[in-house]
Amino acid sequence: NFVSAVVPSDEIGVKFDDIGALEDVKQTLNELVTLPMRRPELFSHGNLLRPCKGILLFGPPGTGKTLLAKALATEAGANFINITSSTLTSKWFGDAEKLTKALFSFASRLAPVIIFVDEVDSLLGARGGAFEHEATRRMRNEFMAAWDGLRSKDSQRILILGATNRPFDLDDAVIRRLPRRIYVDLPDAENRMKILKIFLSRENLDPSFKFDELANATEGYSGSDLKNLCIAAAYRPVQELLEEEKQQQVEKTAKPSLRPLFLDDFIQA
Ligand code: ATP
Repeated sequence: NFVSAVVPSDEIGVKFDDIGALEDVKQTLNELVTLPMRRPELFSHGNLLRPCKGILLFGPPGTGKTLLAKALATEAGANFINITSSTLTSKWFGDAEKLTKALFSFASRLAPVIIFVDEVDSLLGARGGAFEHEATRRMRNEFMAAWDGLRSKDSQRILILGATNRPFDLDDAVIRRLPRRIYVDLPDAENRMKILKIFLSRENLDPSFKFDELANATEGYSGSDLKNLCIAAAYRPVQELLEEEKQQQVEKTAKPSLRPLFLDDFIQA
């Protein structure tokens, strides 16, 4: 089940430089994770420097939490396991508990590894009261116990990284196990500009195109919204060319030349 969710470190294909903005978050993650995973010998002396067993990324949807988790695995040279509640729930009663056990024993063989729990609120959210399925409750208890049981030798090489848009739905037991909580905010205008530059780095932009104008016009957009906007804008010259070909105003060629993108393409998209 979760074997398909494993990505070896060298196949993740995203690194911190591919993420626009979020500089503080990247720096904090490097200090908390990259350094201890890459240089465990620096953290094996004394009592003060303890590797962190759990980190929570929280913030609005589409702000790059999943992207950060993957890129962090690249930076830290760690394998990556992507877990959601559907990875561990099963229609077979009792299987979720066994899968959870297997996940942790598998992870310790894959270390250094980052176990990314997306939508951690739905996997380990507040206890579900009388209607909660017995199997779900047991899976959650098993997960917590396995987490606590990470031997200290493993603890600097196995990190649980949770992400949520709904931090208030997490119960205390989970919050306690994720002692470092990092807010991943929506980008401001300057950061929207940095993100747009990444998405548009290889597009044919008209010389009149100004990044700051587009950044100012996209207040409230997440990184994911900006990506969708850029895709929609880049599609407009393609649509126009298809239309011209249909009207037989231009010849269909193997190397069609598309017009550049204007600010207006983004406004209209
Ligand atoms: P959700 O909470 O909805 O799961 P998320 O915070 O995990 O969202 P991602 O899935 O990481 O967000 O982001 C969606 C897509 O948006 C990414 O694959 C990426 O293409 C783009 N994206 C978001 N933020 C950034 C950023 N800061 N730089 C570059 N791309 C970004």
